[in-house]
Amino acid sequence: MLKLSGKIIPIREERAPYLAARVLRIEAEFDSEGADPATSALLVQTDNPPAGYSAYLIPHGLDPAMEAFVHEKPVMKLTEDFDYLRKGDVIRFDAPANRISVMYRRESLQNSFLVTERCDNYCLMCSQPPKDVDDGWLVDDIFQAIPLISPETKEIGFTGGEPTLLGDRLIEALRLCKEHLPATAVHVLSNGRRFSDMEFAKKWAAIDHFDMMVGIPVYSDISSTHDYVVQADGAFDQTIRGILNLKRLGQRVEIRVVIHKQTCGGLPRLAEFIARNLLFVDHVALMGLEMMGFTRANLDSLWIDPTEYQAELYEAVRILDAARLRVSVYNHQLCLLDKRLWPFAVKSISDWKNEYFQECEGCAVKDRCGGFFSSAKFKRSDRIHALGAQL
Ligand code: SF4
Repeated sequence: MLKLSGKIIPIREERAPYLAARVLRIEAEFDSEGADPATSALLVQTDNPPAGYSAYLIPHGLDPAMEAFVHEKPVMKLTEDFDYLRKGDVIRFDAPANRISVMYRRESLQNSFLVTERCDNYCLMCSQPPKDVDDGWLVDDIFQAIPLISPETKEIGFTGGEPTLLGDRLIEALRLCKEHLPATAVHVLSNGRRFSDMEFAKKWAAIDHFDMMVGIPVYSDISSTHDYVVQADGAFDQTIRGILNLKRLGQRVEIRVVIHKQTCGGLPRLAEFIARNLLFVDHVALMGLEMMGFTRANLDSLWIDPTEYQAELYEAVRILDAARLRVSVYNHQLCLLDKRLWPFAVKSISDWKNEYFQECEGCAVKDRCGGFFSSAKFKRSDRIHALGAQL
């Protein structure tokens, strides 16, 4: 698992003016053509780095002579956790706290911005438990980061908390993406409730992005079950009305279903409901559980071995596929999955938290298998088993 946030070691702090947290793109010493030093941190490679950058980062294992740093900018030593940093990555550099957070990795295909930790749902299995805090600085930093990221980026995600709680600020951030990243797809994870307000849905549609999708969870065809899973009365009605509004406005919508003990039995009925009432959505993702946040606290109510819901999962996929809906199975290990579901299985776990465990050694399908969230070390099926080459 890659560490995306952590301490750095101050070698020399900025003398003046006081440096608050700021967002910087990493530049490399021998490949900095076109870089703007004012918005860049230089990854030092020699004893004689060029002047003018906003910060200097010394990789773990390098000990340049400090006399070379004649300018006033902060010099920080990275720990080996950040050996993966490369030119073009974007960091939040918090010099007063001696921390960096990696906001974007140029080589990754799975970059996403955490927009807020606030949420109006309180899902039983939330991997990022909501915090009722004023975290508007998160989106302020995203505004700084977007112009710094590579226009060749294939996709950027926005996640929370509930991103739509930001209202117009979210709309502005998405507009900024469209302006600076005209070829980059955008994927937003939302509980969908805010889109029940047609005025907000219209603002969303007015962004007129060429490739923007919103992923919205629906956990059951029964409103009280959905509301129980998200711990919010009335959420089902708002979410479904939100999806209908978005589709009325021609927006792309994905339905996401996290599978656990409370939802697995109802999968075929939910698939029927989607096929009958929401046939126009663009994708349905049926997803395995991540062992983070509230999932651990509510494990007894949530955990079920994936092998025990294969019949329901297969039936749901069959119904959706027969209705010509695009359907995928996320976050599932091939050795636990009904072989008929393999064509629908997607390697969906973000690269920075994707792992394989000891049970996978010698498995013939490891290249095709999505593996695990790193949090699966906390709990995973005891039926994981390496598959043979005959497959
Ligand atoms: S043993 Fe590991 S790599 Fe092989 S199918 Fe199972 S989870 Fe995937």
